[in-house]
Amino acid sequence: MSNSRINLLGFDRTGLEAWFMSQGERSFRARQLMRWIYRRGEYDFAQMTDLAKTLREWLPVRAVIQSLPVLSDKLGADGTRKWLLGTKSGGAVEMVFIPEADRGTLCVSSQVGCAMDCAFCATGSQGFNRNLEAAEIVGQVWLASRLLPPRRDGLPAVSNVVFMGMGEPLANYANLVPALRLLIDPLSFGLSKRRVTVSTSGLVPAIDRLAEDCDVALAVSLHAADDVLRDRLVPINRRYPIAELLAACRRYVSRNPHRHVTIEYVMLEGVNDTDAHARALVRRLDGLSAKVNLIPFNPFPGSTFRRSPLVRINRFREIVLDGGYMTVTRRVRGDDIDAACGQLSGQVQDRVRHRLGERLRYEAIRQ
Ligand code: SAH
Ligand code: SF4
Repeated sequence: MSNSRINLLGFDRTGLEAWFMSQGERSFRARQLMRWIYRRGEYDFAQMTDLAKTLREWLPVRAVIQSLPVLSDKLGADGTRKWLLGTKSGGAVEMVFIPEADRGTLCVSSQVGCAMDCAFCATGSQGFNRNLEAAEIVGQVWLASRLLPPRRDGLPAVSNVVFMGMGEPLANYANLVPALRLLIDPLSFGLSKRRVTVSTSGLVPAIDRLAEDCDVALAVSLHAADDVLRDRLVPINRRYPIAELLAACRRYVSRNPHRHVTIEYVMLEGVNDTDAHARALVRRLDGLSAKVNLIPFNPFPGSTFRRSPLVRINRFREIVLDGGYMTVTRRVRGDDIDAACGQLSGQVQDRVRHRLGERLRYEAIRQ
């Protein structure tokens, strides 16, 4: 039964209006329902008391409001919380909540695994299974908002959403965009565009599309300022090299004078962390409106890299700061529960690796 019912979490406002009309209903029903689903966290149509009775009767026959089931829920010493969520295809993804004094950040997954194969990432080392559907992405924020206690300062428990969990969000573009639209829609989560961040390893054409479709905050996983090194660390660089990627960043920020791109740079000892690397980064950014986020490498079973020592990270940071870029070192959060950046591995059964060559794999994720 539930398989034939449609999950309403997958529709943005326009999609939900169109769905109601396809069911012979008026489109304003969408707005009524969205308030229940997102403002009040309600999933039981019977409880939606201001909906017409006939609507309350037929909705449960044709539709559900359903997030992914929680398989495990872990709380780290620093308050970071990690959930493992099951998917209907059998794989599982992880979602992480990071509480801070002035915000509550939810880090969501966009794919089961990831095909990008970055050399330093646990998700990448697991391979790729499938894209999450829009309802499975939205369902993460919906679920966390319901599970988390309200904040004392009146902000919503989830005040910021970052697409920095498992997967490459821009390789799942068709499902990402309705999810982003719901996140910023005042009738649903109502987050400001600055509080929703898409992080990408650098899918250039999709960055340009995102600028048109839903220009939320952009973070780019650069990790190296020269192509030889980046080819090795972030293999998608062989298709979209640094010059093209940074040009796309410039186009993205040029649309809005107050905009900046966050440049993510994982600190790998002896690999990309010397003074010369820092200076090369400054030269390469060349006036781009950017903030630099240094991420201490987080190890995972089987990883061969080491985290740069703190003194090295600090020195690197000073050079980039002196070069004119606001630079922060990302605090390591949740590493005792394997919830830190790059440690998410979920349960992924790779369906692509070993079957297709590397070149074909990129074709597959480009869709
Ligand atoms: N796929 C997207 C978003 C998910 S990864 C992307 O790559 O941008 C989120 C961030 O964590 C990226 O900047 C990624 O490069 C970084 N990361 C991956 N593995 C890491 C690790 N082991 N330690 C620290 N950061 C890591
Ligand atoms: Fe995928 Fe991002 Fe990990 Fe690279 S760093 S393998 S793009 S999740």
